[in-house]
Amino acid sequence: MENHSNFIKTIMIQDLESKKHDEIITRFPPEPNGYLHIGHARAIVNNFELAASFGGRTNLRFDDTNPGKEDVEYVNSIKEDIAWLGYTPNQIYYASDYFQEMFDRAIILIKKGKAFVDDQTADEISKGRGSLTSKGIDSPFRDRSVEENLTLFMNMKNGLYKEGEKVLRAKIDMSSPNMNMRDPVIYRISFAHHHNTGDKWCIYPMYDYAHPLEDAIEGITHSLCSLEFEDHRPLYDWVVRETEMPLVPRQIEFGRLNIENTVMSKRYLKELVDSKLVDGWDDPRMPTLSGMRRRGYTPSAIRNFILGTGLSRMNSTVSTEMLESFVRDDLQAHSAKMMGVINPLKVTVLNYDKGLEAIEVPLDPNDASMGTKTIYFSKHLYIDHDDFIEEKPNKHWKRLAKGIEVRLFHAYFIKCEEVIKDDEGNIIELKVTYDEKTKSGTGFDERKPNGTIHFVEATTAVKAQFNLFGPLVFDGDAPLVERLNKDSWEKRMGYVEHAFKQLELKEGIQLMRVGFFKKDKHSTDEVIHLNRIVELKSSFKK
Ligand code: ATP
Ligand code: MG
Ligand code: MG
Repeated sequence: MENHSNFIKTIMIQDLESKKHDEIITRFPPEPNGYLHIGHARAIVNNFELAASFGGRTNLRFDDTNPGKEDVEYVNSIKEDIAWLGYTPNQIYYASDYFQEMFDRAIILIKKGKAFVDDQTADEISKGRGSLTSKGIDSPFRDRSVEENLTLFMNMKNGLYKEGEKVLRAKIDMSSPNMNMRDPVIYRISFAHHHNTGDKWCIYPMYDYAHPLEDAIEGITHSLCSLEFEDHRPLYDWVVRETEMPLVPRQIEFGRLNIENTVMSKRYLKELVDSKLVDGWDDPRMPTLSGMRRRGYTPSAIRNFILGTGLSRMNSTVSTEMLESFVRDDLQAHSAKMMGVINPLKVTVLNYDKGLEAIEVPLDPNDASMGTKTIYFSKHLYIDHDDFIEEKPNKHWKRLAKGIEVRLFHAYFIKCEEVIKDDEGNIIELKVTYDEKTKSGTGFDERKPNGTIHFVEATTAVKAQFNLFGPLVFDGDAPLVERLNKDSWEKRMGYVEHAFKQLELKEGIQLMRVGFFKKDKHSTDEVIHLNRIVELKSSFKK
C-alpha cells in the first residue's frame, strides 16, 4: 500500500515516532452472525494493509458475545473470505475465550462501586435513561451495596434468575449528554447455546463492555471501527480504565462504505437468504464476498477498489459502476478470450462440405503464455441474432446483412445469401457461403470484410445458460421488500464453444464482444451456467 496515505496511517506514524508504541497491532472483529460483505472488505483491507505497512500484525477476532445469532457456518465462511481476499491473520481469537477475564473484570468494577445489578425490566431501564433532550433518572437499585451486588451477580452467573430478570449496569452518569454513558447495561442473562462455550455461561457481556476488553487483552494498539461507534468511544475508554487493563488501545473511527443500490447489512442480507429470495449467501447478485467470488469478481479487483476509494472519516457512497470498473480492469488484463452466443441464430454454410475443421487459436492473442485452445468450423454454425440485420444497413453497420460479407473470428469470411423465416415471419436461419481463401492467418487482403463477428460451431457447441444480473434492490425509502428488483436475474439459453468442456475455467473469462463471465456452480455436463461478471464496456457516463 505504498503511497496510500490516510488519517489513520498518520496517527500510526506519530505513535511510532513518539514511542507510544513500538509495533502496530490491529484486528478485524466480525460478529459471526452472517457472511462478510463488501463493506467489511473496507475494514479488512485497511486493518491488514495498515499494520503490514509498518511490519505490524493483524488478528482476526470473532466477536461472539451474542450466542442467539451466531453460528460456526459463519465462522468458517468468514475465515474463507479473508483468505480469499489474500490476507492471513496473525492469530485467530474468539471473544468468548475471554469470558472468564471479562467476568473477573466486572467483579473489579463492582468492588469499586462502579457497577450494580438492576432488577428493572428492559423497558423501565430504557425509559429511565431518558432521551437526548431529557436527563436520565437513577435506577432505584443503583445504590445497592457492594456485597449485595457481588452476591446478585454471582447468582446471575449461576443461573438463579430468568432471562431479563436482572442485568449488570455500569454506574457512570445518568445526566451525561452522551446516552452511552447513562449507566449502560454491561451483562445480561441468556440461556442460548453458545457455538464456542456451549452452556458454560448464562450471562453474556454487552458489546460496549466486551469490545474494549477484547482489544486490551490482545494488546491492540489501534482499534479501527466504523463511524457509528464515535459516541461509544468515551465508554470504551471508561471500560479500559476502570477495569484496570494494563494495555490501553485507542479506538479510531472511519467512515462506512456504501454502494448505490446495494444493501449492506447482514440483518437484511440474512432476511433475503432466509426468505429464499436469493440463491443463498453466495447468490451472484449479493454484495457478500462469497457472492462476488461466485459471480467472478477477483480479490485483487476488490482490494484495488477498497484502496482506490480511500479511507476517510466520513461515510461515503460510491457508484456500482466504480466497483465494476475495478473488476473490469482486472479481468481485462488476465482473462481467456472465448466465444459464445447468447441469442443464437442458425447459420448453414452452403458451399462447405469438409466435415469438421479444427483450428488452434491462442486463448489470449495478447498473452501467449496463456496457451491455446481448439475451435471448430463446419457447415453448421450459430451466430448471434443481434449481428444480423434484415433491412439494408447503413455504413455504420459493421456486421452481417444480406449480400454482405463479414469475418468470423479465427475462421473465414462468410456472405449471407438467403434468409429463412418461419410462418410468423421470424428469421430462423441464414444460408451463407464462405470463401476458402480468406482463412484467418493466411494474410488474405484482396478485400475487406464488413466487420468481424463471433460464432460457434453448432455440432460441437455446448448448451449454455447465461445469467445476466441487475441490481438486487434499488435505493429508496420504502421497505426492502418493495425495493427488490424483480428482474435482477435474467436467464438466457444459448451456446458456447466446445473448449468450455475441455478447459477448467476457474477464473473469469471474456466472451468476445459479449462480456466477462464466470462458470457457475450449478453447471452440469449438459448445460454450462455462466454468470455475467460485468459488461465489456462501462455504461457509466461521467
Ligand atoms: P452489519 O451492519 O452489516 O451487520 P456490522 O458492523 O454489524 O455490519 P461486524 O461483524 O460487527 O458487522 O463488522 C466487523 C467490522 O466491519 C466492524 O469493524 C465494522 O465497523 C466493519 N464494517 C461493517 N460494515 C462496514 C461498512 N459498510 N463499511 C466499513 N466498515 C464496515
Ligand atoms: Mg457489529
Ligand atoms: Mg450489524
